[in-house]
Amino acid sequence: MSFSIVTTNWFRVTLPLLLLTFIGIGIDNVILLTQSNLGVVTKFPYILFCSAIMLSHAFKQSRIAMVASALMLCYWVIQERLQSPLSSGTTILELSLLAALLPIALLLVYSYKDSKLFTRSFASYLVTLSLLAFWCYLILMHFYDGGFDNINDTFLFVVPTISKLPLILVVYLTAMVLIFSMCVLNMNRNVDVVIYSATLLTSITFVFFHVSFISSTMFSLAGILLLVYLLSASYELAFTDSLTEIPGRLALESDLKNLGRTYTIAMLDIDHFKAFNDTYGHDTGDDVLKLVASKMTLVGGRAKVYRYGGEEFTVLFKGKLADDAKDHLELLRASIESYDMVLRNQDSRPKDDKAGSKKRGGNKRNDVVNVTISIGVADSSEINKVSEVMKAADKALYKAKKAGRNKVCLA
Ligand code: GH3
Ligand code: MG
Ligand code: MG
Repeated sequence: MSFSIVTTNWFRVTLPLLLLTFIGIGIDNVILLTQSNLGVVTKFPYILFCSAIMLSHAFKQSRIAMVASALMLCYWVIQERLQSPLSSGTTILELSLLAALLPIALLLVYSYKDSKLFTRSFASYLVTLSLLAFWCYLILMHFYDGGFDNINDTFLFVVPTISKLPLILVVYLTAMVLIFSMCVLNMNRNVDVVIYSATLLTSITFVFFHVSFISSTMFSLAGILLLVYLLSASYELAFTDSLTEIPGRLALESDLKNLGRTYTIAMLDIDHFKAFNDTYGHDTGDDVLKLVASKMTLVGGRAKVYRYGGEEFTVLFKGKLADDAKDHLELLRASIESYDMVLRNQDSRPKDDKAGSKKRGGNKRNDVVNVTISIGVADSSEINKVSEVMKAADKALYKAKKAGRNKVCLA
């Protein structure tokens, strides 16, 4: 799954654009369908957003719930207040405020971390949304009082051939969509795709506001995409080891099914880790696992790394034999050996020196520990069954342990 095309950055940028193209081509049918099912279709986005918010809680994806809440509020304003012609009353001003503020509300989601819903951070986001809404209310009040006399001629002038939305906002929305698409292309995290899609689909709504039923169509599509991204986030979660945040056993097993003819598997095990835990405590042990995992991600040779379980890890080199892989592994072994880990809290100072890892520095404030790893390597050159290559790598690891640990051994 991890190498799958649907999670590549280009696919993630293109998918909403493709769906938009299909809708654009069939817009007449969409309008007919909406007209004949008006009651249901206009309520559909609410159902989707509420489902997304509930699932976000279960999957601890509060940022998707934040996006869903912002979209739901925006859709509600469109349905309740903006169903009259743009030329009447304050419709164009209200639409402009929505178009200006929604991308900002979506941008703010980046400043949060994912968690469950009933937390202070989710509540604070809802408060922020209310403050933005209140600000719009103040602007409208000021407008009714006769303020902004020339605003339509100065700031909010419209170029009808482009859009009924003021030109400045068309430019602004285009820029925001481009910025968010760059985030997907460069970082390709789930949150990037969620914010990009939401901004793109709502921008289309604002720019083509004169098209019948554009809001229910676009917001429904946005709701469906949010649900898809939620499922893909939960899928990724199942494939990622929660402690070290590198792919776990499930991801390894899945990737082992899609190997070419040439590959190398390395099994890696932390030396004397039981004694390390006994000496420094389980929490410091966990820090070591995170450290080893983060060093492994730098291994090079286009290898993929996994936590196999406990204090064992796996490195997978696709398209490489052991001779090409072993230098990368040797560098990894050396980088972990030479890394001085500073103990976080003084309670976890060693009670004795049973641990195979050396302790350096007698100073209470600067306790530094080092760990070492042993690595067993096997490749597909003489064995053609993946499970046999794994076994051979395991045997080589055992050999490295017997030879005194802190070594890389080839099968
Ligand atoms: P060797 O050099 O032969 O590999 O010795 P070892 O002590 O590393 O091997 P052993 O298999 O006896 O012990 C593995 C230890 O790893 C036991 C367990 O306490 C520790 N361990 C496994 N999973 C975790 C974890 O998630 N966190 C922490 N802190 N320790 C773990
Ligand atoms: Mg072990
Ligand atoms: Mg071990």
